Amino acid sequence: MPKIVIAIDGYSSCGKSTTAKAVAARMGYGYIDTGAMYRAVSLYFIQEKVSLSSHRDILMALENIHIAFKFNSRTGKNETCLNGLNVEDEIRKMYISNIVSEVSAIPEVRWAMVAQQQQMGRRRGVVMDGRDIGTKVFPDAEVKVFMTADTYTRARRRQQELLAKGELVNLDDIISNLEKRDHIDTTRAESPLVQAPDAMLLDTSYMTIEEQVDWVIELADRRLAELHRKRANKVLVK
Ligand code: C5P
Repeated sequence: MPKIVIAIDGYSSCGKSTTAKAVAARMGYGYIDTGAMYRAVSLYFIQEKVSLSSHRDILMALENIHIAFKFNSRTGKNETCLNGLNVEDEIRKMYISNIVSEVSAIPEVRWAMVAQQQQMGRRRGVVMDGRDIGTKVFPDAEVKVFMTADTYTRARRRQQELLAKGELVNLDDIISNLEKRDHIDTTRAESPLVQAPDAMLLDTSYMTIEEQVDWVIELADRRLAELHRKRANKVLVK
């Protein structure tokens, strides 16, 4: 069976990571959370007081940033490490969400992250979620999904996630953060968030996680069957 790339792009907090993680587990594929990479860069920039307006400082900082995902057998999850330190919990906090879209709009940051993501998925057999996977990182991905959901639903989901980690954030603050991030993500000059022409739209406003996962798996199965048929036809013609 050939291995494919499944690209899941879309707005913040519409269930991309949860869906992508579950799809990867069911298919026996790797999962790469590209948002975590931009969050780790943001954390480093804050810790090292990197000026977002200094081209030189940004390039120097990027040289010193090493991001990896390590499997934690206790939680059963892939966790983000920045220069060898586990930063999984820290990068999910609100102060990172408040700066990450500005950081990820910097072209040099994007070039560095996109190159790493392409390297991570070079053998295929991965599910990658983000904002530019189907348009920039893997424009040749065999399956492309563009996820959306209404803002209120997204904000409520985000609030629950933060609460589960002990951070109580006002719904209005979450809504304004989501709207601000969507605006920056969709209007930035370098690979903005847009639906790739060949991506399938998935509105998760009224869907459960299980339904979202099944929807993507069905799409992937159809695509794999199509690839299989094409290969078989080629062999017959030869
Ligand atoms: O997916 P998550 O919400 O964790 O992503 C955090 C931020 O990282 C997004 O709001 C977006 O600004 C940025 N991002 C990006 N390109 C990606 C993934 C995330 O610009 N591929």
